[in-house]
Amino acid sequence: MTGAWETVIGLEVHAQLLTATKAFCGCAAAVGGAPNSRCCPVCLGLPGALPVLNRQAVELTLRVGLATGCRIAPVSVMARKHYFYPDLPKGYQISQYARPLCEEGALTVDGRRVRLKRIHLEEDAGKSVHGAGGTRVDLNRCGVPLAEIVTEPDLRSPAEAHATLRALRQLLVYLGVCDGNMEEGSLRCDANLSLRRPGSTALGVKTELKNLNSFRGVEAALRFEAERQAALLEAGERVRPETLLWDAAAREARPMRGKEDAEDYRYVPDPDLPPVRVDPAWLDAVRASLPELPAARAARFVALGLTPYDAGVLTADPALADTFEAVLGAGAPLAAATSWVSGELLRHANERGLAPADFPVPPAGLADLLKRVEAGELSNSAAKTVFARMVDEGGDAAAWIRRLDLGLVSDEDALAARVAAIVAANPSELARYRAGESKLFGWFVGQLMADSKGKADPRLASRLVRERLDAGADGD
Ligand code: ADP
Ligand code: ZN
Ligand code: MG
Repeated sequence: MTGAWETVIGLEVHAQLLTATKAFCGCAAAVGGAPNSRCCPVCLGLPGALPVLNRQAVELTLRVGLATGCRIAPVSVMARKHYFYPDLPKGYQISQYARPLCEEGALTVDGRRVRLKRIHLEEDAGKSVHGAGGTRVDLNRCGVPLAEIVTEPDLRSPAEAHATLRALRQLLVYLGVCDGNMEEGSLRCDANLSLRRPGSTALGVKTELKNLNSFRGVEAALRFEAERQAALLEAGERVRPETLLWDAAAREARPMRGKEDAEDYRYVPDPDLPPVRVDPAWLDAVRASLPELPAARAARFVALGLTPYDAGVLTADPALADTFEAVLGAGAPLAAATSWVSGELLRHANERGLAPADFPVPPAGLADLLKRVEAGELSNSAAKTVFARMVDEGGDAAAWIRRLDLGLVSDEDALAARVAAIVAANPSELARYRAGESKLFGWFVGQLMADSKGKADPRLASRLVRERLDAGADGD
């Protein structure tokens, strides 16, 4: 029973930065490579090796800080965070502690402000691979740059935590600083949760959940943990401050270790790395290079006439928003571009596992198709058939319309002759129409559509039927 408690959540998000090389050496930073093939004395922490800070990693972190309105420290400090783990051969992780690069920003999530405590730069550790033959260590990830983004405990429900993580992911992808792939681990989230009585301002004892590798996992783990803590508190027990590991398959969180305090890490400024100085000119240049952010882009789409919902769908991914704008720019009508890009195009892309940027039909090709629908050359449903072929086999709309014989009949004289024949063949329906049964109009249009096997241009068909029936009323 969590109703009697207020849920308090704060997130710690690690985003792998899209640099070519690692944070302090020239090894490749991208995921992949044979185990232990992307290491050197620096990222392995061999004695005497000296790290050199990757300027691009700092710049990408600054982009996040600027986009979230953080205060950027003119001077920040790289620190050693000491702990032992087999995947951390140095015995410490290079991070930032007392003086991070960015502090006190905010993120707007569904209109609510979520404060960011800090954003700092740190390095990743290696990976322990547990297998049949025992546990092996792959150190390729050692030294890969991460931005750690820490929220204040401003979130009040698992759903809000989920939405915040989505908004943050979207921002990181827009900024080009992280690919946002949670399944592959380039975006990771630890979630902290405590309960308190509604109205209380003091924070309760929190636990930290780790190993949350999907958006749904974050929400499920937090729901589980809120219930677990509520049950403890209801029973008059206390919540122990500890770190829990979420098991997505079992849908439960198990204790991993007691919570360590900052003192346990013996933080010290890294003597091998000078303080990071961000000069104002650099900061201005980074600020000037920021793209239009998701909220601004969505607002611009709403100003074009889209619903907030459609604007949200189309701006979820910057490449999809680019596609939409390119389709519009190539002359497609607004309503058709909106529904086709957020509907058919997205569906085909998802079914084929394609990113919008890799979609095989160029925006101009889709715009051409939509202009033909607008001009009455083919029906909307025939256009879906054409589009599917364009996606799978290439080619342009005109060629597919011809080849599949999907063009609408819009030869006015030929259709008018068919209308005349149909009206002549159905004198009693004509009489009923003329006697005021206006629904017979639709029946005549239906006859014409059937007669043309559905290929009469619907707008032209109704006009010709209307003209014929009404002209007859005046005595031919
Ligand atoms: P710690 O010192 O235990 O690492 P921090 O103050 O650095 O704690 O906060 C780590 C994360 O935990 C932040 O996202 C913060 O918002 C969140 N947090 C801190 N205290 C609480 C609490 N009582 N309940 C829920 N979340 C909390
Ligand atoms: Zn290296
Ligand atoms: Mg902390």
